[in-house]
Amino acid sequence: MSNHRVCQRCGTALSGANTFCGRCGSSVSGSAVNYAPNVYVQQIAQKSNSIGTAGFVLAVIGLFLSWIPFLGWIIWFLGLLFSFIGVFRTPRGLSIAGLIISLIGIVILVGIIILGLGIGLGMPLMY
Ligand SMILES: [Zn+2]
Repeated sequence: MSNHRVCQRCGTALSGANTFCGRCGSSVSGSAVNYAPNVYVQQIAQKSNSIGTAGFVLAVIGLFLSWIPFLGWIIWFLGLLFSFIGVFRTPRGLSIAGLIISLIGIVILVGIIILGLGIGLGMPLMY
């Protein structure tokens, strides 16, 4: 962990024993070196959480909009994609929920398509 040093001013990763940032030229103090790893971990946690949450939200929206051709399907697909990415990160609770909702969504979607085809094929026969 001692090699993971980040410039406090611009966030550029610093290598080895550098005491100056190669990007913005600011000197790296001892406090910055000790403080950086905690910030780094927090940023990863927030990132993974937001992707999983986005996947969950899109999956729910996609579930309600799946009856709208193309628009609903794109939102549903993005929900599945973001949830799938989110599952490989922590915390993964919402990502798994998003995946399950997306899979329920595809079952409903296939049912609607079959129903729609049935109505579409049945209509000419009724008149
Ligand atoms: Zn810098």
